[in-house]
Amino acid sequence: VKLSQFVVFSDSALCDVDGNVVRVLFQSATSQVYLLPQEVVDRFAGDAGDLSSDERAELAQARILVDEGEDEFGAVVAENIAAAGRTDVRTFVLMPTAYCNMGCEYCGQQHFKSPQSPRHRQAVVDRVLRAVHDSGTTSLHINWFGAEPLMGYAQIRDISAAVIPACDDRELPFSARLVTNGSLLTLAKLRTLHHDCRVGHFEITLDGLSHNALRPLKSGRGSLARTVDLIAEAVADAELSELTFSVRSNISQRNRDEHAGFAALVRQAGLATDQVGFYATPVRSWGNDVSDVAIPAGDIATVERQWLDAYLANGLTTAVLPTGRKPTVCVAVARGAEVVDPTGNLHSCTEQPLVPGRETTALGHITDLGMPALRPAGAYDTWNQELRDRTTPATCPSCSIFPICGGHCPLVWGEGWPACPTIKTTLPMRLTRYGETLGLTAA
Ligand code: SF4
Ligand code: SF4
Repeated sequence: VKLSQFVVFSDSALCDVDGNVVRVLFQSATSQVYLLPQEVVDRFAGDAGDLSSDERAELAQARILVDEGEDEFGAVVAENIAAAGRTDVRTFVLMPTAYCNMGCEYCGQQHFKSPQSPRHRQAVVDRVLRAVHDSGTTSLHINWFGAEPLMGYAQIRDISAAVIPACDDRELPFSARLVTNGSLLTLAKLRTLHHDCRVGHFEITLDGLSHNALRPLKSGRGSLARTVDLIAEAVADAELSELTFSVRSNISQRNRDEHAGFAALVRQAGLATDQVGFYATPVRSWGNDVSDVAIPAGDIATVERQWLDAYLANGLTTAVLPTGRKPTVCVAVARGAEVVDPTGNLHSCTEQPLVPGRETTALGHITDLGMPALRPAGAYDTWNQELRDRTTPATCPSCSIFPICGGHCPLVWGEGWPACPTIKTTLPMRLTRYGETLGLTAA
């Protein structure tokens, strides 16, 4: 037997109430967490031969130890290939507009006003309805995405009004989510989007206390207080009790120390509820240079820990540990998914439209009569096969968190950068933090 490739240890040993020294372990293929006595860890990390047969059986049961010849990566990537190849689950990322009312300094998109014709709108509807009426489709999802999708609110309503009844007629499961800067939302729009357009989840970015400076409206005004108040009104509204939000904070050198103030602000506003999840993520490059404001690699675990601690201290909902397997890393590898940009071009990846330098990546146009029901092949469809066939096991094939990561972003790897999310660095810290939430203390 050998130690599983997919086991991650907490970065500290911790003490339980009886004074026993333990480690927290995460098995990323099963997403199970274990507490193990440090002395057992020391024995199997050194030589599994030091374990009793009962201990070995127990650790094998938990997939902490696996057979010497087992190809764990191969098994996970085979599952990912199967998931990405599914064509019965159809996802449409629809970008109703190329314009955004914010001017964030780190944004890599280029925004422009693009009035859209009824013909364009009908072409989008026809494209989605084709999937609805395909007898092979078993569920349909729309992700409303931008620029700022609420600049195209009328289109969201029109397209939803055409697609949702058709799904209902077929009893086809339908769901929608929307990524927005939040500034154009009102309670009335939230109700309409939730009830009529069946948007079940909103992802809103609020960049800490400096939000108004880092994400100013093009008018120069700020939107932090208004957006926080609006989310608070929504979670207090009994008619919106099924609606969920995630609040993302992009962390840069400009706002890294605002964790306590921001977490207190949103708690005081009433956002400490399980309808609203919070997470902080370091600003990353979209092909643009963010080196002046990016968090230095050596500080990332500290900064994430500070934000995590602030969320937890204020009773906010946040995921201390990864939530589970990620068989499909993103829409770009999913054969049944496609992105329709504001001009009607089809893409496979959400970061291709509107990003200078990636103009040539379109796979076709929705008005082309010869467009097949599934989008033409995209650049990342064979991402998992490429990982499987790599002759050098560097990066993802030897990574301990591949099952919950999947390679994170094929586009970034393809442009020559490591795409590893910060969880690769911060998971050992998070396991320690998780142990502390269970009442364990520093050893
Ligand atoms: S390839 Fe990267 S940028 Fe494109 S959809 Fe996937 S995760 Fe997003
Ligand atoms: S992208 Fe990085 S963290 Fe994710 S599986 Fe690949 S090597 Fe691991």
